[in-house]
Amino acid sequence: MTSTEGFRFDTDPLSDPVLAPSAEAAPAAVCRGVGKTYRTATESVPALVDVTLAIPRAQVTVVVGPSGAGKSSLLRLLACIDSPDTGEVLLAGQRVDRLRSRARRRLRQRQVAYLFQRPGENLLPYLDAVAQIRLAAALRGAPVTDAEALALLDRLGLRDRADHLPEQLSGGEQQRLAVACGVVGDPALVVADEPTAELDTAAAERVLAAMEDLATAGVGFVLSSHDPRVMAIADGFVRLDHGRLVEA
Ligand code: ADP
Ligand code: MG
Repeated sequence: MTSTEGFRFDTDPLSDPVLAPSAEAAPAAVCRGVGKTYRTATESVPALVDVTLAIPRAQVTVVVGPSGAGKSSLLRLLACIDSPDTGEVLLAGQRVDRLRSRARRRLRQRQVAYLFQRPGENLLPYLDAVAQIRLAAALRGAPVTDAEALALLDRLGLRDRADHLPEQLSGGEQQRLAVACGVVGDPALVVADEPTAELDTAAAERVLAAMEDLATAGVGFVLSSHDPRVMAIADGFVRLDHGRLVEA
């Protein structure tokens, strides 16, 4: 595997709607007129208001804005963990809301990875690093061999951790492994909400370098953060305030 080939495998038939040829050309994700309001017994909080944007492939997009601006809400919609009240979300060119639940689950599984802040939550405690990557690829419908998993670990500086369990890895190594699991099998989008919040500076920098490197293979990364180190690897920004997009 080289940086230009990407981590792409052709086990899925092209007749699969999730892998239709148009999916390759489309942005990783698109929001059109998206609105999201949280309703509790006593109040109604508009978390996102008329948000229209595209998350390009092969780039790192960073969502910035003050606490409560709607960053996490936007990332959950992009990751198909949550649905908007109004507007459309497209993943790899496919309208997420138009799909029946099974096709939607399949699209999410195939095209998007969501990274939790806590590195350990992204990994299964009983699988070594190679097995984590192989499982992630298989779940994405794009199985890889041990050799391919090792090549990816090598690229992330984790070659000598191949047979380690998560508990035998540092937080930074766990998060780099999680990034590897996120990109394997060539999804359109990797979503990470404040991915460096739990890491020290050196570990954060290596995780971010891994994202910057792997984005070149074609996946779109969308991250939220207040961290200047995260902003430093951004190819583009999405600025939110009170749930609305603000111009730079
Ligand atoms: P950010 O990640 O930028 O801090 P969030 O997307 O978490 O912002 O939150 C946006 C707004 O929506 C905030 O006012 C927050 O309090 C509110 N909010 C988020 N999640 C919920 C929820 N599950 N129920 C009610 N209000 C929520
Ligand atoms: Mg948040």
